[in-house]
Amino acid sequence: MTTAPNFLFVMSDDHACHAISAYGSLLNQTPHLDRLAGEGMRFDAAFCTNSICAPSRAAILTGTYNHRNGVTTLDAPLDNGLWTFPQALQAAGYQTALFGKWHLGHGRGADPSGFDKWRILPGQGHYHNPVFLEADGVVVERGGYVTDLITDDCIDYLDGRDRSKPFALLCHHKAPHRSWEPAPRHFDLYDDVEMPYPPTFTDDLDGRAEVVQAVKMRMMDLDPIIDLKSPVPPGLDREEEIRWRYQRYIKEYLRVVAAIDESVGRLLDYLDDDGIADNTVVVYTSDQGFFLGDHGWFDKRLMYEESLAMPLLVRYPDMIAAQSVCDDIVVNVDFAPTILELAGVEPPGDLQGTSAVPLLEGNAPEGWQDSMYYRYWMHNDPSHSCPAHFGLRTRTHKLICYYNDPMGQPGASGPSNPVEWELFDLVADPHEVINLIDTHEGRLIAAELHQQLVEHRRRVGDVDETIQLAPPTSN
Ligand code: CA
Repeated sequence: MTTAPNFLFVMSDDHACHAISAYGSLLNQTPHLDRLAGEGMRFDAAFCTNSICAPSRAAILTGTYNHRNGVTTLDAPLDNGLWTFPQALQAAGYQTALFGKWHLGHGRGADPSGFDKWRILPGQGHYHNPVFLEADGVVVERGGYVTDLITDDCIDYLDGRDRSKPFALLCHHKAPHRSWEPAPRHFDLYDDVEMPYPPTFTDDLDGRAEVVQAVKMRMMDLDPIIDLKSPVPPGLDREEEIRWRYQRYIKEYLRVVAAIDESVGRLLDYLDDDGIADNTVVVYTSDQGFFLGDHGWFDKRLMYEESLAMPLLVRYPDMIAAQSVCDDIVVNVDFAPTILELAGVEPPGDLQGTSAVPLLEGNAPEGWQDSMYYRYWMHNDPSHSCPAHFGLRTRTHKLICYYNDPMGQPGASGPSNPVEWELFDLVADPHEVINLIDTHEGRLIAAELHQQLVEHRRRVGDVDETIQLAPPTSN
């Protein structure tokens, strides 16, 4: 490589791998994302370190875990004086821009930094006729559909760029975040089909931690007006209503995904037409996954696979072989050092992630990470009652500790719970329905994983003194 590559970093919000046909979705077709996967590398073990919007975004931008960057919950803004990869690229001579969802604070000295140009949605923003914010408090009112408008902005930016410098363009879609409002052209999509149900749709959560059984993420917890946009038809029994709710929910979600896929197609076409496809690193990812009726749930937060896994597709023809698949573990904290190495920019010494460039080249180095550390902090938030927890995922197992955060969460609801553990064998039980923590074999495995978990926490510096737990015993 003789010239620094461009970066087109496309990130959606809550787009689960299993709603992408390149990942084997049984629900929908995503031809443009599939094209990206086919021309580059699909990561099958990319994970977020905290499955919620702002914290995952902060981890991606800063290359650090949330206990380090401070964005542990949705309510914690990103300190815009922190190092981020866009700032580093900007300082290295890149032209940098951000369009779409930011959700890490703005205004009063807290605007996004590291971008020559930015236009963001306030907070979550709106799907239809959204308002955008720019530097200096400028408010831009737009007519149209949010995914299309963000794409328009990206293409306009590329058209007007300085062609003497490489660019790093962040296209951050709001979609498919709740409340799943499709573009008018997709209103009728999937109207005539019944979507298949995931294998764990009727999971009764037997044997799982009591705090997991209590989360408010079931189909019955969807809001009929905001989420389903329709009153529940009369005369349905409970089981029929749950299925009706799922159909409404999943079709709205997938309609919103359809516009994202079209956006990716437009952006890839632009790169082709402009002759810069070979020297542009294209990334598609989402800040985390999502439950699509899996275990009877919607939403994310929990460390279960559907929520933990991020889609990650990377195309860079100068380096990555087409149609490649990587099953080595990478986490969102690894993104920033990876992008920096691709750009030929030296990272600061205190980044916590590891560059995945060797994986992109098809050579997993000896000793590459074989486990990842996760922590979710918003203990018993009023909307979802999801417990705080941390855990370790290896290639074959997952150990989760619901530690009953003694500090709690402001506004927390629900009773105080004892510490509970879950252990899953991901090879024998990929759907995570059998908690092995109470079995003899499980206790032996858990004891070993607990050692690794303690070591991993120490290594990343998450050594909160209030949470020093004994090894797991039975629940
Ligand atoms: Ca999200």
